[in-house]
Amino acid sequence: MTEEYPEVHDPALLAQARQILDACSSAKEMQEAVLAAVARNEQWRGRECINLLAPEAPTSPTVRALLSAEVGIRAAEGHIGAMNRWFAGTRHIDEIEALCIELLKKAFRARYADHRLVAGMIGNMAVYSALTEPGDLIMSVAQPFGGHSSNRSDGPAGVRGLKVVDVPFDPVELEVDLDLFRKVAPLVRPKLVALGLSMTLFPFPIRAMSEIIAEWGGRIFFDGAHQLGLIAAGLFQDPLREGAAVMTGSAGKTFAGPQSGIMVWDDPALTRPLAHAVFPVLVATHQVNRVAALAVSAAEMLAFGQAFMTQIVENARALGAALDRRGIPMLGAHKGYTATQQVVARVRAFGGGLEVARMLERANIITNKNLVPEDRPEDWDRPGGLRLGTIEVTRLGMRQREMEQIADWIARVVVEGEAPETVRDEVIEFRRSFQTLYYCFDTGLPPPED
Ligand SMILES: *Cc1c(COP(=O)(O)O)cnc(C)c1O
Repeated sequence: MTEEYPEVHDPALLAQARQILDACSSAKEMQEAVLAAVARNEQWRGRECINLLAPEAPTSPTVRALLSAEVGIRAAEGHIGAMNRWFAGTRHIDEIEALCIELLKKAFRARYADHRLVAGMIGNMAVYSALTEPGDLIMSVAQPFGGHSSNRSDGPAGVRGLKVVDVPFDPVELEVDLDLFRKVAPLVRPKLVALGLSMTLFPFPIRAMSEIIAEWGGRIFFDGAHQLGLIAAGLFQDPLREGAAVMTGSAGKTFAGPQSGIMVWDDPALTRPLAHAVFPVLVATHQVNRVAALAVSAAEMLAFGQAFMTQIVENARALGAALDRRGIPMLGAHKGYTATQQVVARVRAFGGGLEVARMLERANIITNKNLVPEDRPEDWDRPGGLRLGTIEVTRLGMRQREMEQIADWIARVVVEGEAPETVRDEVIEFRRSFQTLYYCFDTGLPPPED
């Protein structure tokens, strides 16, 4: 098939969609094609899969319902308060947004919070836009150690015109190499050092690093995309208290709210630049239905965060140990595998991350390929790792016993070469008894283990 113009998307899938639409006899049929695809996903991913994607979290029934609330069609841009808004009629929207901000402050024990970021990525752009100038030097962790494009030259940091130098990282301990950082940082004198990774297994020496860079006025920016829920619950570490100037993150990863972004900070001097970078620079109408949903997820975090996040980490450790015992080498095994919701397997010997993730998908077990420290950045499409996360299985009420069961299925496919389709039938059967989402006001805590 020839393309008239280049597409970044898989041309075969776009051609298939065109075919479906061309075969429709009315626009209503076209709508039905969309609804049918949504329903297929809900049945498969929602009811029949074991979803182990580390950045994915199922929202509570109330949060999900709020995403279709009436307020979602209302336009509100700018800061809270009638005098700050362009549009009239925002009286109750102001209430919702103010509640959201104050709930976020409580959840993160922070003096300031922003609720308007439509993605964690936008939060990172806001930080770079507010706290750096083009040409500035920053430091961040490279992708094979877990770094995210938003803090590297191929993402917002690069678009801002920043020069990015690597934070030295210990590939065995899976932590910042503090001794080396002590030597390198004074030569670079970075304005910002971005910490917090996509593959985050262990905490960062925020305090020590912030003291080192304070000498030339450098600041720590903590990108807590994955760890926001853990941080809110007081597990993992508390970046603002340990010296980070600002923290961003995704609301839809461990925080288990609507997919979007959060930004919190304590220093009043940062309020104007950071808020200005959000509006009018990066966000106008900021989806008030999502803001309401975010506010409720913050309330859920206050009530259930401790129990939910503790179980998430226990499940991740149990899954790591169970996979390790079944012959799948795990990163950080000598340190208890993880202090977060993630564990990472080395699967180069089993065909590589892409192939293993595809095999497991045929077994209805959803994971993602991931770079591991021995990969080169250009291996990004065929890396040697597999990342697994425990947010969704935990919210469905699963505990250590179920992690053993899941590890069994993974090992049967990956290590023993069993046909994924036989495992899939067992997975579908198993999922039948795990359909309720817990750790929220709708359903409370999961029932105790029998
Ligand atoms: C996921 C992730 C992001 C991007 O967050 P979105 O909410 O998906 O835009 C940024 N930084 C890190 C470290 C991440 O893991």
